[in-house]
Amino acid sequence: MLKYVYWEIRKSGRYRCELTGVWKNIMNMTKELGGVNLNANDLFKKEMGRGTQTSFWYEDLSGSGILQDIFPLLFRLESKKQCSVSDLYQRLGATIQWPWGWKRLPSNQEENIEKRCCDLILQNAQIGNEEDKWKLTHDHSGVFSVSSMRNLWETTFCKVLPYKHWWNNWVPIKINFCGWRAELAKRGVPMPSSFCSFCGQREENDLHLFLECNWVNDVWTLWKTWSELELGGVQNVEQLLHLNHVSCQSPKQKKAIHVVMMVTLWVIWKARNDRIFNNRWSTPGSLLDEIMVQSFLWIKNRGKELQLNWNSWCIFPFAVH
Ligand SMILES: [Zn+2]
Repeated sequence: MLKYVYWEIRKSGRYRCELTGVWKNIMNMTKELGGVNLNANDLFKKEMGRGTQTSFWYEDLSGSGILQDIFPLLFRLESKKQCSVSDLYQRLGATIQWPWGWKRLPSNQEENIEKRCCDLILQNAQIGNEEDKWKLTHDHSGVFSVSSMRNLWETTFCKVLPYKHWWNNWVPIKINFCGWRAELAKRGVPMPSSFCSFCGQREENDLHLFLECNWVNDVWTLWKTWSELELGGVQNVEQLLHLNHVSCQSPKQKKAIHVVMMVTLWVIWKARNDRIFNNRWSTPGSLLDEIMVQSFLWIKNRGKELQLNWNSWCIFPFAVH
C-alpha cells in the first residue's frame, strides 16, 4: 500500500512541495500502528483488475517482490518508469500482449535473461475486467471504514490488555472518542505532545492533562465535593474510566458515573483546546458547571428510566437507582 502511495506521489510531480507534510503524516501513522504491532502494509491488499491503478514497476505483481528490484536492468531500459500495468499491455481477443516501451531493446545476455524471466511472470499475471481495488485484510467485508479500523484496534489491544473501551450510548460519539483517545495514550499509543496549556510547566501527556496538572486538580477537588466520590486509588485515565474504585452495586449507577467521567475528560479537553486555539480561559468552577449540566442533560435524555431531577443532581448526583 505504501509503495502505491509512493508511486502516486512520484507520478504527480507537481505536488512534490506540498506533499512533504502528507508523507510525514503517513509515516507517523505507520509508526503509531507499529507501536501496537500492526503493520500498515499488511492492512490493505490490492486486488488487481484492469491494472489502471497499479504501478507496473513499484508494486508487487507476482507475489515475489516489485519488478524494479527483480529486474533492475530492464527497469533501466524502461522509458516511462511511472507507468501503470494497463499502460503496458494490449488485449488482442482473449490474449494479452506486452509491447514494451524501451529506450533501446535488451541487447546483452543479462538483459535478455531478465526479459525472459519477466515474460514468464507476465504470462501468469491476472488481468481482469474490473477496476483495481484496495481491500482491508482484517475485515471480512474488505471495506475500509472508521468502525472497521476501530474494531481492529480494539481486537489487537484486547489480546494483550485487560480492558476493552466501554462505548457508552448515553453520551454522543465525540465524548466516547475523547475517552477512547485518552485510554489509547495510556496504552502506549503515542499522541502528539507539547507543554501543558493549563500550567505551562510540564509536558502534556494524558496523565498530566487529565489528572496531575495543578490547574486540573482544582477542577477535580470541586468535582469530588459535588460527586462525593473518592478517587484515591486512581493512577491513570484508564482506571478512571473503568470504575474499579467505585463500590456501588447498581449497573445504572455505574453507567451514570461512567458518563460523568467521560464528560469530565471531554470538558477538560475542550477547555484545553479553547486555550490553545481560541485563547479563551475558563475557571475550574465554570468547568464543573459545564460537567454537571452536560452530564445531567445526556443522562436525562438518554437514560430516561432514571427519573433524574436537576436539584437532586446538584446535591447528590449518584442517588440514581
Ligand atoms: Zn499542567
